[in-house]
Amino acid sequence: DLAPPAHFIKNAIDEDLAAGRYRQVVTRFPPEPNGYLHFGHAKSIVLNFGLARLYGGRCHMRFDDTNPTTESMDYVEAILEAVRWLGYDWGEHLYFASDYFETMYRCAEALIERGLAYVDSLPPEEIRALRGTLTEPGRDSPYRNRSIEENLALFRRMRAGEFPDGAHVLRAKIDMASPNLNLRDPILYRIRHVSHYRTGNAWCLYPTYTYAHPIEDAIEGITHSLCTLEFEDQRPFYEWLLEALAEAGVFSRPLPRQIEFARLNLEYVVLSKRKLIQLVEERHVAGWDDPRLPTLAGGRRRGYTPEGFRLFCERIGVSKADGWIGYEVLEQAMRDHLNEAAERRIAVLDPLELVIDDFPEGHVEWCEAPNHPLDPERGKRRIPFTRRLWIERGDFMETPVKGFHRLTPGATVRLRYGYVIECTGCDKDESGRVVRVHARHFPDSKSGTPGADRYKTKGNCHWLSCDHAIEAEIRHYDRLFRHPRPGTEPGPDGAPRSFLEDLNPESLRCYRAFVEPDAAQVPPETRFQFERHGYFVADRYDHRPETPVFNLTVGLKDTWGK
Ligand code: ATP
Ligand code: MG
Ligand code: MG
Repeated sequence: DLAPPAHFIKNAIDEDLAAGRYRQVVTRFPPEPNGYLHFGHAKSIVLNFGLARLYGGRCHMRFDDTNPTTESMDYVEAILEAVRWLGYDWGEHLYFASDYFETMYRCAEALIERGLAYVDSLPPEEIRALRGTLTEPGRDSPYRNRSIEENLALFRRMRAGEFPDGAHVLRAKIDMASPNLNLRDPILYRIRHVSHYRTGNAWCLYPTYTYAHPIEDAIEGITHSLCTLEFEDQRPFYEWLLEALAEAGVFSRPLPRQIEFARLNLEYVVLSKRKLIQLVEERHVAGWDDPRLPTLAGGRRRGYTPEGFRLFCERIGVSKADGWIGYEVLEQAMRDHLNEAAERRIAVLDPLELVIDDFPEGHVEWCEAPNHPLDPERGKRRIPFTRRLWIERGDFMETPVKGFHRLTPGATVRLRYGYVIECTGCDKDESGRVVRVHARHFPDSKSGTPGADRYKTKGNCHWLSCDHAIEAEIRHYDRLFRHPRPGTEPGPDGAPRSFLEDLNPESLRCYRAFVEPDAAQVPPETRFQFERHGYFVADRYDHRPETPVFNLTVGLKDTWGK
């Protein structure tokens, strides 16, 4: 498998192991089950599971489900499916932060007992106002000096459900003058009389993310807690809290260590659950697994591969500097994997009829085509050649432009894996549109027969027998947004513009095409290179051998904007 190349996190782990700070490596992937996983999550999954694999440690699959209002079991299942699909296995290490509510509560009592937390009864807006700014220190709440006994009694009554939402919060008692705003007595608990998808109505008190996450890590014995750069300012609180709880004897050392890395920003998509939810709910796309969405379910349905994602993550690396990655980097990774993995088949996407006038009606001549040009072991298949064929409309020009080497009256071309033909003319309808092309063939030019390579042609076209080709629906996906950084450019009036205004109105085109019989008789999610076109996948849900549906995964070359 792919070993992650050296990067600063790996160096930090090497140092920790060398210094004897930890004896093994335990990482975690901690999504909140409030949406589907996106390509950004893939970076985190590959990093966390990859490091665990590399160091012979383990990676925990943990649901960070401490927020009762937005989470659901459906999201849990979709997330597990996506991680498994990417190729990672958490073994028995599946955890839910909501299972730790009792421990988190006891940690809070331990803090109160040590004078490190207090119940504040100011309304939320006053707490915010007293917090100060980057240039101004915060001010103490009038409740900051409540006695330990009073705090404990109030906190227990909060848990018992005696107060309405917003009446009190629990805050850490650190330093209202700290230059780091996150250390100005952050909120640890809020009262919320709402039911949770796993714990139901057992709690009306819910921990904040900043409080819950370090405790989750410590409970599980995580050594390296990797998170994105936005959490850098939270690290002092992460350390303060775990030190305090270690001093209190709740957790033993060594404590987990938080390390931040740059999140993935990918051009032409949005990687934010909030925006993805909006795209799905407002029906700008067909669902969470719409092939245009940068969700892992969408990428899968588009034909992207787990190996392609891992290759992509290896290529973009891990750093501490925020930046944007071009979408073509992802596409090239998919192409590189599919070039090896996908067998070749023939499809005619914009069909035009070609009649070989000197080829006997009713006769079938079987031609052989390799399934994979780089790997003869994948064998060959037989393709029927008959009098009437489908070719690409773009492979014929009645009056050729300079440099056009395919079919045009008088020209010879090779029909790939078949015969060399000479174009003799075409038929048109009343409007002058070409409806049929005519040709004659050279009977001794069949590919693979002795002497066939005496024929030198510049053009090489693909084709399908009209009597055998299967009609298929092709779904041609383009980028979902026309702007590389959706919603970042101000509108004409200088006001910020919604990312929705950058949606590409032509991101999906569907059309009828023909594929060879061998391409239709396959299970959903089979991937092919349709020669000269690109990589396609049999749609995960809609493909049937009798009514095939193929999605464009990625073209053979980068053609965006060309
Ligand atoms: P979003 O901002 O899309 O809502 P999130 O960070 O809130 O994402 P979580 O479910 O909390 O979503 O994410 C789980 C893990 O995935 C976190 O550890 C987070 O750091 C990581 N992650 C999320 N987005 C990215 C990204 N764009 N690049 C790298 N890692 C990411
Ligand atoms: Mg998060
Ligand atoms: Mg989020």
